[in-house]
Amino acid sequence: KLYNQVQDLKGSIRVYCRVRPFLSGSSYLSTVDHIEEGNIIINTPSKYGKGRKSFTFNKVFGQSATQAEVFSDMQPLIRSVLDGYNVCIFAYGQTGSGKTYTMTGPKDLTEKSQGVNYRALGDLFLLAEQRKDTFRYDVAVQMIEIYNEQVRDLLVTDGKIRNSSQTGLNVPDANLMPVSSTSDVIDLMNLGQRNRAVGATALNDRSSRSHSCLTVHVQGRDLTSGTTLRGCMHLVDLAGSERVDKSEAKTLMFVHISPESDALGETISTLKFAERVATVELGAARVNKDTSDVKELKEQIASLKAALARKEGEMDQSQHSVSSSSEKY
Ligand code: ADP
Ligand code: MG
Repeated sequence: KLYNQVQDLKGSIRVYCRVRPFLSGSSYLSTVDHIEEGNIIINTPSKYGKGRKSFTFNKVFGQSATQAEVFSDMQPLIRSVLDGYNVCIFAYGQTGSGKTYTMTGPKDLTEKSQGVNYRALGDLFLLAEQRKDTFRYDVAVQMIEIYNEQVRDLLVTDGKIRNSSQTGLNVPDANLMPVSSTSDVIDLMNLGQRNRAVGATALNDRSSRSHSCLTVHVQGRDLTSGTTLRGCMHLVDLAGSERVDKSEAKTLMFVHISPESDALGETISTLKFAERVATVELGAARVNKDTSDVKELKEQIASLKAALARKEGEMDQSQHSVSSSSEKY
């Protein structure tokens, strides 16, 4: 059953859209007219063609959507990591639109407000426990920051990347920390946030200009056959207004918009761009539909992709012996 869900998820990029609530104190009219199923209808003043404009996504979450609701929709994708799939979830949108809220949560984190990162790991542990009679899973995480093409390790205080193959997962670059419970993850995420804040003093709005990426590596041994499979998941909180590519199967792009009318210009261009990504299929078959946009798309993701691709290339080289379903992609 899970396999079928995964089949449904691959083949094209899924794009979700989320509108955050108004921040307390702001008294704007919402630019969002209404939401119906996968459509979001935006009120547009004359500059953008007066009236309403509709954008279509795989799913649209309105202002009242909870963290739990948002997560439950991506659960099958996240669970597929335990079956050896590679998954990538990007949060995209203007600074202040709610990317970090979706991926991590607010500053004053509660269990209810925990974002995708915490929930994903919690879910993996739960499922691993349920499968413990047939599979033995090892989970380890890396947390990195990409700023100006430089990769910084957020799980070491000096930020320097070191090779680490201590857990046998054999992943070069960046400290790889084994985790076995949600509380381990919370400790590590706190450490990562603290180290990110240390770097931030050098440049004050660094977090809006850097990408942060939590990578979860899963290695599972089938206790009956003895075979090993590996899956990994990148959970990426992109720098503001940065744009993304369509490089990985089962990729999910999570678009965020602010409801305030002074953000309308950015909101429209974000939605236009994201809607286009939704119609570009993996495999480049329909990519040349609109050359200028695809060119733009490719150029704008270059720095993030280059940094992730370098890491992935190195990972592939050190994982030749992997025998898992992830090889199909
Ligand atoms: P970004 O990471 O895109 O720059 P943030 O995630 O930091 O934006 O969100 C900006 C502010 O809005 C933060 O104070 C955050 O807590 C709040 N916020 C964002 N999304 C939501 C939401 N869905 N519900 C409640 N508050 C939110
Ligand atoms: Mg942020």
